[in-house]
Amino acid sequence: MIIIKFGGTSVQNEEAIGRVISIVKGRLKEKPLVVVSALARVTRLLCSLAEEAEAQREENVKNLLKQLRERHFNLAKNLLAARQDLLEECLAKVEERILELETFVGGICLIGELSPRSEARIISTGELLSSTIISYAFNANDISCHWIDARSMITTDDNYLNARPDMEVTEANIKRIVGLEYRGADLVLTQGFVASTEKGATSVLGFEGSDYSAAIFGMALGAERVEIWTDVDGIRSADPRIVKDTRKIDVISYEEAAEMAAMGARVLHPLTIEPARKKNIPIRVLNSTNPSCEGTLVIRGDQSPDGPKSVAVRDEILFVKIVSPKLDGVTRMFGKVFAALYPRRVPVVLAKATGSEVFLVIPEMAGDLLPEALEEIGTWAEVTTYRDKAFISVVGRNIVGFEGLGDKVISVSGKVHLANVSANMMSENFVIDRDRLQVTLESLHDYIFKVNN
Ligand code: ADP
Ligand code: ASP
Ligand code: MG
Repeated sequence: MIIIKFGGTSVQNEEAIGRVISIVKGRLKEKPLVVVSALARVTRLLCSLAEEAEAQREENVKNLLKQLRERHFNLAKNLLAARQDLLEECLAKVEERILELETFVGGICLIGELSPRSEARIISTGELLSSTIISYAFNANDISCHWIDARSMITTDDNYLNARPDMEVTEANIKRIVGLEYRGADLVLTQGFVASTEKGATSVLGFEGSDYSAAIFGMALGAERVEIWTDVDGIRSADPRIVKDTRKIDVISYEEAAEMAAMGARVLHPLTIEPARKKNIPIRVLNSTNPSCEGTLVIRGDQSPDGPKSVAVRDEILFVKIVSPKLDGVTRMFGKVFAALYPRRVPVVLAKATGSEVFLVIPEMAGDLLPEALEEIGTWAEVTTYRDKAFISVVGRNIVGFEGLGDKVISVSGKVHLANVSANMMSENFVIDRDRLQVTLESLHDYIFKVNN
């Protein structure tokens, strides 16, 4: 079996879904499980819908529901124009799902309260809708496709918006259900991102989590490979949306790809690598608008040379400096700082300590509890929060063997607030001023990938 995952832009409209059908058609012999995201921008729309409902802005809620209905109805009509029978069935299912959402959101509007559990239920609708329409599109093209509700397979904890699967239960569910559904079908299709708790409530795996879903399905089924179809020609030397003349990486190790994702490269969700690595399943990152490009292969122990492979950035981070008047020692400093951060689930990108200082890199969207955590630390230390900072990270095996990265970043950015080499030697990281990010990124990329080659 193989897993074929299509992201939001790869299923965004009729034309894109036409490409999806032809890509999958060429792989039917390999018994695909197709995993789809919501149509591009739909998850964002659903997040706004949840917010507007909580704020009891009924007009806005109505408007967003109208947009959602129109987008999916039009898509189904265009895709299934030649098959009125299938179109009617499909529209009935889409309408049922949207009505259910409307009723649910109506309830939220009435009480003006939104729990993570309710929000997960609202935002899961995107994948449930897109997968329904796409499965009908396959059938209309004479490819017999069975739709599976991912909630019956991926079982998670009750951290509804960032849920983590119980792998043992999930693996058994996937094997059993995919095995059953494959009977008499050319392919089976399900949703990324969407899961459910042990008690049956809908949960989601976190934003961009469909890549992770694909890897979980791959691991459970012992797939020959996992294909991640997106809108760029594979993993590149930097985000092509922000740097010109990036290069395609042909092959990369699991470890380097995981490091890139952890350091902020959006192309793969950070958790995607682990399930694949566990069973040594290759991941191929491909471009659905350019299917003949071989993309990037992510595997165990590639033969490519050491040194930088890619530059990743996070542009919305806070840099926090904590200075204790006593010489507490590293263990005590870390212990006290994380005793305040951990119970509030503050995500930390990077932490560094000396005997009397701790430096933290934290995403700006670290949640509402960060001020409270810093206030608590402020009772025993001096806390300074620096805003408008960015995090730039050069990723590649044995990164320290490549000289001049630090000098280059300092000379272009003007000031490096923190420099760090990761313990696994897979990345060299710098905190700089955000207004110097673009120019630093461009010259660093140039220095690594042009000047030296
Ligand atoms: P999908 O909707 O298919 O999941 P995403 O938008 O999540 O797609 O991921 C693809 C995007 O990742 C690309 O459009 C690109 O802008 C971004 N990206 C960031 N870093 C890289 C990189 N190093 N190589 C390729 N793409 C990258
Ligand atoms: N639709 C979800 C999101 O936009 C999951 C995904 O596309 O990976 O975050
Ligand atoms: Mg994505």
